[in-house]
Amino acid sequence: MNSTPKGPVNPDMAADLIRQSARVLAEAIKSGEVSAREVTQAHLDRIGAVDERVHAFLHVDTDAALAHADRVDVKRAAGEQLGDLAGVPLALKDILAMKGVPTTCGSKILQGWLPPYDSTIVERLRAADIIILGKTNMDEFAMGSSTEYSAYGPSHNPWDLNRIPGGSGGGSAAAVAAFEAPLAIGTDTGGSIRQPAALTGTVGVKPTYGSVSRYGLVALASSLDQAGPCARTVLDAAYLHSVIAGHDPHDSTSINAAVPDVVAAAMKADVRGLRIGLVKQLSGAGYQPGVLQRFNEAVDVLAQLGAEIVEVDCPHFDEAMSAYYLILPSECSSNLARFDGMRYGLRVQDGGDAGVETVMADTREMGFGPEVKRRIMLGTYALSSGYYDAYYGQAQKIRTLIIEDFTRAFGQVDVLVSPTTPTTAFPLGEKVDDPLAMYLNDIATIPVNLAGNCALSLPIGLSPADGLPVGLQVMAPTMADDRLYLVGAALESALFDRWGHLLIEEAPAL
Ligand code: GLN
Repeated sequence: MNSTPKGPVNPDMAADLIRQSARVLAEAIKSGEVSAREVTQAHLDRIGAVDERVHAFLHVDTDAALAHADRVDVKRAAGEQLGDLAGVPLALKDILAMKGVPTTCGSKILQGWLPPYDSTIVERLRAADIIILGKTNMDEFAMGSSTEYSAYGPSHNPWDLNRIPGGSGGGSAAAVAAFEAPLAIGTDTGGSIRQPAALTGTVGVKPTYGSVSRYGLVALASSLDQAGPCARTVLDAAYLHSVIAGHDPHDSTSINAAVPDVVAAAMKADVRGLRIGLVKQLSGAGYQPGVLQRFNEAVDVLAQLGAEIVEVDCPHFDEAMSAYYLILPSECSSNLARFDGMRYGLRVQDGGDAGVETVMADTREMGFGPEVKRRIMLGTYALSSGYYDAYYGQAQKIRTLIIEDFTRAFGQVDVLVSPTTPTTAFPLGEKVDDPLAMYLNDIATIPVNLAGNCALSLPIGLSPADGLPVGLQVMAPTMADDRLYLVGAALESALFDRWGHLLIEEAPAL
């Protein structure tokens, strides 16, 4: 195998800064071929040119981004050591607290709230001299699969502006696919990094639960939420992963152990002798033929590269959706109780004569959208006395059975693979009024969140049916995140000759 996976390297670097990989940009900044300011400005210009149509960003932090880029250039001129991604721009999902910068979670209820502190992820990005361009659009409080539940209007898929870019982190994925940023941060509670990655032809990773700090990440469902990298190449995702992962004493669920060397794994890109399991439950009925065709071809490629392919049975994955839609609403009904009109953002009837309960009720009535309300009601119901055992308790038992399915599977194979999503990107408006149809987008991604292990989605081609991107999901055991990159980079490298246009060509709609 190649020691360095191929990537979207444009020989005419300076003329085309937005189409480079993050690593190529970082090397060019380090060598002085371009400045961090030029790279940042090129991406700000791109945002100015296309974001009116893509709507990936809710807030662009132009001045702070350029000021940080200048500091990187000063450091370089002074001969200081620069990090592996120093000077590279990034788009941040609007669910991560950033001091003094609007953080809305795609909700009206947080309008006007300026966090008084930085999340650990933001601190780490800054310390690595990664340039934060701004905050990206998302479904309200990360509930959704299309960004259509954002209170600020949907994002559009750069492959076809009439289609959704996935969700909840559709803004982050669209920004990367539209060349507005080479890197982004997303969060994945049930698939919100991987599903948008699959639908936009980009790479997205949900790291092992507890390996990336949740401090300053606004909670949706605390036992499921995990932030992770979005990029256009597997190697770029690995570099970003290594910046944000690692123990944080501010997060009591943070794992105090060494982070696997994901960069070395991405560079190795070798599946020879690896046992790869095809999850019986995650393909077939309900998956579009075009998605399955590309998936089966990619599996053949893995076999040609020297992996051993076996079918694996995970019988309880069929119940994952039902369990998730009890556990998630239960946790979010509790987490979202803090948005009461007193502490953050919006307050309805401020200064009037209304009593505190009226202010709270009216603020929540006006501040939350329909999907958030639906889940708060579901969760409150599931947790109420008399129903707790019948719903929440049963869901937790299913969760244990799913963990056992994974444990058994990883006794037989090193990684599991599946299509990331059952379909390619669907048209805006198609599922927005049909919650169940929307929920079904995450059928293949949810088991990993319930079990807490890790997964990566990478592009494997375009569906022959509609010419839209298809993603393949690699799943690995807890704290074996390096295996995701080993397999992902090998497959990316092998598919590049055939599918290189996914990474290098202008997304056709722009
Ligand atoms: N689409 C899923 C949901 O609506 C996943 C959300 C997420 O991962 N944040 O819950």
